[in-house]
Amino acid sequence: MPQLLDTDLHAAVEDAAAHLYVWALKDIPQDLRDALRDAAGRETSVPGQRVLSTILRNVEVADSERNLVCQDTGIAVYTCRVGEHFPLHPARIYEALRDGTARATLEHPLRSNAVHTITRENTGPNVGHRLPIVHWEFVPDWDGLDVKCVPKGSGSENMSFLKMCVPADGVVGIKKFVLESIVGAGGKPCPPGIVGVGIGGSADYAMYLAKEAIARPIGTRNADPVVAQLEDELFGLLNETGIGPMGLGGDVTVLNCHIEHADTHMTLNPVAVNYQCWAARRATAHIAADGAVDYDREA
Ligand code: SF4
Repeated sequence: MPQLLDTDLHAAVEDAAAHLYVWALKDIPQDLRDALRDAAGRETSVPGQRVLSTILRNVEVADSERNLVCQDTGIAVYTCRVGEHFPLHPARIYEALRDGTARATLEHPLRSNAVHTITRENTGPNVGHRLPIVHWEFVPDWDGLDVKCVPKGSGSENMSFLKMCVPADGVVGIKKFVLESIVGAGGKPCPPGIVGVGIGGSADYAMYLAKEAIARPIGTRNADPVVAQLEDELFGLLNETGIGPMGLGGDVTVLNCHIEHADTHMTLNPVAVNYQCWAARRATAHIAADGAVDYDREA
């Protein structure tokens, strides 16, 4: 078998990134479609019902016109699981993700959202200094690469909150902070969406965990039964706030609540909240060491 060149694998990852970014923006996962339909069936307020039926119609139009579900193409955020034997170095994987993001933006074309954070000047086709954002996980005894693309709209990303609770605040303090955050956010993050909560670790890691939480398929539960119970409890409490679809009042404020957690210092209790709007877009590619790509909308 001819040896696979780095350039071939670079091209495979770049193509995958270009495809994932556009695909995620156009074709939302089945679990999200089901959750939105279920929400429309549960909502009893008239404005809430109108919002949800408009959202469902929006999804139908995006499907039939092969167009974006929302105009905000977000910032491209990728999560990479890299096998220790995957034959392309992470530095080259990053280049390929950046090149694929830029190509998708220019070829589709997509709105270029990236700006210098001080001057506010556009930095290019959804790329710039440290953009796109890539999170890394390294997997022993494996030669594959999984890339998940989660374009993150600004309306929901602006509704991100961090509190360094103290251990004495306990679980009550965690619940209070999550509820206060979502009530304060009101209609701004385009509800109903997914509330991601990160608990433990450090300040930065808690927010990273909250971001991981919003990228899970809707309604999946944390493997730790204690944390899973808190997910169920918060899901119920958040829907009792009455904020409703787009903040217009109603029964459905969130589609679900996911929590990711890490062990922490005995004097720390960090809690982060990251909101994902109703357009909870995500798409994944599994890339083999020989460059074969398998796309997966449901991961
Ligand atoms: S928050 Fe989400 S649904 Fe609202 S405008 Fe941004 S991407 Fe679109």
